[in-house]
Amino acid sequence: MLYNSTQNANEVVSSAQAISQGISKDGGLFVPQEFPKYDENTFRELLKTDYKGRAKKIFSDFLTDFTEDEISDCVENAYTSEKFGSENPAPINYCSIDGKCLNVLELWHGPTCAFKDMALQILPHLLTKSLKKTYDGKTAVILVATSGDTGKAALEGFKDVENTKIIVFYPVDGVSPMQKHQMDTQDGKNVRVCAIKGNFDDAQTGVKKIFTTKSVSDKLSAGNMLFSSANSINWGRLLPQIVYYVSAYCDMVNDGKIEFGEKINVVVPTGNFGNILASYYASLMGLPINKFICASNSNNVLTDFINTGVYDKNRNFFTTISPSMDILVSSNLERLLYKLSGDSDNITREWMTALKTNGKYEVTDDVKAVIKDKFYGGYCDDLQTKSTINELFTKANYLCDTHTAVAINVYNQYVKETGDNTVSLIASTASPYKFSRAVLEAVAPDCTLPETEFDMVDKLFEISNSPVPAPLANLKNKSSRFFDVTEVNGMESYVLGALEIE
Ligand SMILES: *Cc1c(COP(=O)(O)O)cnc(C)c1O
Repeated sequence: MLYNSTQNANEVVSSAQAISQGISKDGGLFVPQEFPKYDENTFRELLKTDYKGRAKKIFSDFLTDFTEDEISDCVENAYTSEKFGSENPAPINYCSIDGKCLNVLELWHGPTCAFKDMALQILPHLLTKSLKKTYDGKTAVILVATSGDTGKAALEGFKDVENTKIIVFYPVDGVSPMQKHQMDTQDGKNVRVCAIKGNFDDAQTGVKKIFTTKSVSDKLSAGNMLFSSANSINWGRLLPQIVYYVSAYCDMVNDGKIEFGEKINVVVPTGNFGNILASYYASLMGLPINKFICASNSNNVLTDFINTGVYDKNRNFFTTISPSMDILVSSNLERLLYKLSGDSDNITREWMTALKTNGKYEVTDDVKAVIKDKFYGGYCDDLQTKSTINELFTKANYLCDTHTAVAINVYNQYVKETGDNTVSLIASTASPYKFSRAVLEAVAPDCTLPETEFDMVDKLFEISNSPVPAPLANLKNKSSRFFDVTEVNGMESYVLGALEIE
């Protein structure tokens, strides 16, 4: 199987090249030229196997330049019960509310308690093998600018992975105390963490600049290293996300929640559009999905887009209690537009250019019609998010995080509006303990807020009795390893120093 750029169909690469490179030279994203189609027999085979078996089948159909052994190696190393708490890294919680079953797909049982682990635990393995095929013998240097979740998930994924080094920059005052502690205590021989005196945009701009500074890449080359990327537009981050939709469907059939072949809805709290796009890709392979319900917070650019066909990022930016969805440019939407425009690189490029120059584009009536037919867009604000957390806890004794609550709220709006009672799968993207403050305020509005993040975790446990994930509980007694802080213009020399190539 080959991949081409969404903005230049003549830019054709292998999967190893797509993963090593991250993004195409023309600025487009790599997409598979066709999707494998699974028939009834294939799905029946998948029913009989477990998560790892399903992952191996799907990976081998997309990564045709990898051997079976290589794929098996990646999957077995990534999804261990040690790292994910059980044999199934993505279990479904069938909690019920008002007599209705909510099928909550918990994607946060990995080492950092957010769904990004599902991809970032396997990406380093895919990447090192891809590099071997394309740039043999080199060490990959991963630079990450993070506003919290991605940095920690990338550190956990890349720690002690051979032939890789990872350096993470975060804004000194821009991450939560829990996120800061998660990163500063990171272990691993090949990791570095540094705060910068600036905001997230400064960190991101700084990283991009280092990537493209020739004197830096020359020094890297001389030291037999090269830069690589772990951000969410890398194909190696999207592919692993297809697996959990297929696997969850199989689990629901095996658990007697749906008939084999029955269509389901999926509900996804959305930021960069990667997670929901993976479910759309699964449907292109034959997974029976009726509606894709795209849930946003007050940054509701996607809701407007789905309803009107106009994408317009010229609007106020809100800082919300679901920060991982505080996004105005959803990068992975480009891949959906490419597909819906009939694999047209010209049309996709036109829209992306308009987005860059005017912050805005409008899709054609045909594309609008398909989006309206397959997708539902909705949003809710912080107050509604909290009341959803409260209601679910009070009525169903289920504690969910702020992002998952946005999804549930929008799902309820959808059912009310449409009366559609199709069985629905709700993607749950973080442990409630990762956002203890907001969740605590939601379930116990009258309680005095404890001072530290760990005290909030304890308090939330006391109230809910919902188990605290071990990686967060263990953090309390871990001491910090990293204390580095640099000015924004000191980032380059920090990188050179960390790599010992000054
Ligand atoms: C990243 C993230 C999201 C958004 O996912 P996308 O794939 O970017 O749409 C939602 N919830 C949490 C907790 C996240 O970390």
